[in-house]
Amino acid sequence: MTGNPDNSSDFSESLVAWFLQHGRRYPWRETCDPWFILVSEVMLQQTTIPTVLGRYGEWMRRFPNPAALASVSEQEALRSWEGLGYYRRVRALQAAAKAVVEQYGGTFPRDETALRALPGIGEYTAAAVLSFAFNIPAVLIDANVARVLARLYDDPTPIDTTVGRRVLRRRAEELLHRNNPRAYNSALMELGQTYCTPGAPLCLGCPVRTFCRAKDPTSLPVKKQERTISSLEHWDIWCLTEQGLLLELQPPTARHAGMYRLPQRPREFAETLPHLRDQTYSVTRYKVTRHIHRACVTVVPRASEHFISLSRLEALPLASPDRKIIRALLV
Ligand code: SF4
Repeated sequence: MTGNPDNSSDFSESLVAWFLQHGRRYPWRETCDPWFILVSEVMLQQTTIPTVLGRYGEWMRRFPNPAALASVSEQEALRSWEGLGYYRRVRALQAAAKAVVEQYGGTFPRDETALRALPGIGEYTAAAVLSFAFNIPAVLIDANVARVLARLYDDPTPIDTTVGRRVLRRRAEELLHRNNPRAYNSALMELGQTYCTPGAPLCLGCPVRTFCRAKDPTSLPVKKQERTISSLEHWDIWCLTEQGLLLELQPPTARHAGMYRLPQRPREFAETLPHLRDQTYSVTRYKVTRHIHRACVTVVPRASEHFISLSRLEALPLASPDRKIIRALLV
């Protein structure tokens, strides 16, 4: 062996050999069914592995094929996704399931162009389905892979620039294991999750240490733009009457379209009402603080707001922060 990632086949062989012996076992790594792979990829896009592990098995039993998801209402699909967040993912998944049923009789196509023509499936997800389901060579670059490649080549080119992305892609294509892309892609990601972690990597035990050129891995990868966290505040009302709890149905253009939430009111109005509780949570790059005020007789429901009986609440699609605060306030 030599200390050089340019010996791509040696590097890929070593990485795959390590993974086959030590790789973690996840349910989505025990299957070649493209539907199971697609669902895992969509769930893992913005949700942590432990959370997905807690939901994946049950979700797949409920929707074991595209036809099962295609046949339920959007509200039922949204409800099934609760706790996973980023609900546009399940909407896109349902649209893709319908397209697979209608256009391909429920069987997934095996080529990139056809996969990418399905709703919600971009370059990354198509490559994941091709390599993990069909073992077809396809390059996968996520944050873990980008970090590993920048370090392997000791490259300070910012990974979030056009040039940086192009360089990453070229290198990823050169290193890709052509005979076992399924194991290789999983291995590269797992290397980034276990040894080549953000911050201080565990180089001492790294299975590809002899190939790595990184002199100061903690300084890599370089990014042009640092993510900034912004604060967001809104004022909600809690209106519980004999008819039920007043909730607002989100319009089709909203982030949580088709789901319910506590109704919002302008701050000046809400602050004239008794304060009940504050809730803080994070969404993408926002830290959200919601101020909840008790309102009843003084509130005139808007067209999108409805009293929902408490017995219907559990079946209703609600974003997790809403479900949590509603449960807490009903105690
Ligand atoms: S030796 Fe260190 S920096 Fe290089 S790939 Fe392994 S963990 Fe990452």
